[in-house]
Amino acid sequence: MDAREALLSEIAREMRETARWTGRATLSPRVAAALAKVRRAAFVAPGSERAAYENRPLPIGHHQTISQPFVVALMTDLLDLRPGDTVLEVGTGSGYQTAILAELAGKVCSIEVIPELAAGAAAALAGQGYDTIELRTGDGGLGWPERAPFEAIIVTAAAPDIPSALLEQLGLEGRMVIPVGPPHADQELLLIAKGASGSLTQRVVLPVAFVPLTHGVRD
Ligand code: SAH
Repeated sequence: MDAREALLSEIAREMRETARWTGRATLSPRVAAALAKVRRAAFVAPGSERAAYENRPLPIGHHQTISQPFVVALMTDLLDLRPGDTVLEVGTGSGYQTAILAELAGKVCSIEVIPELAAGAAAALAGQGYDTIELRTGDGGLGWPERAPFEAIIVTAAAPDIPSALLEQLGLEGRMVIPVGPPHADQELLLIAKGASGSLTQRVVLPVAFVPLTHGVRD
């Protein structure tokens, strides 16, 4: 088995093992196919290529990480993306999650606060041939009002509270996954659903550890 196949079976095992919390024992076939297709090695930092298919986060510079593949898989699966959906990602980072989303949705809008990471992700995504992705540098906690409403929103950095702009920009019958909690500790991955009448429901999916969502002010 090569490293990529081993990673996919590791993700499948972790899905089964966490099913009692996540409610999902297996990935949808579309999500599994996207994970099999996208080359994570094209999105990791130079020198990390050999670790690209290990099931762990990796440093991408600027104190940020490319998310763990299992977490990418789970968060993506929870969004239940359909081919015509417009999805907002907050925290482009390496662009790996962005590429997975582009395999599954009609349009992906992604916001990154660190300009160097945004530029790196843009180059990596262009290099892999993605052209349905719109990237922007700025504070993703404010969402992207000009592109709203979104059928799905994914936030890949943890905030103490759910940014209200994101709740507003989530479309009717839309879904959002977001880690919520203090920096680097005791965070919960939440799945939020907006009903047909605009009512919101949420459930805790799993304990997680994400880098913090900043407010657009970087040192
Ligand atoms: N999905 C990315 C995750 C990167 S880590 C990947 O797998 O590569 C989270 C990212 O969120 C970091 O790149 C960080 O710079 C970014 N981020 C933090 N606060 C942000 C904000 N307010 N707006 C946009 N991006 C933000």
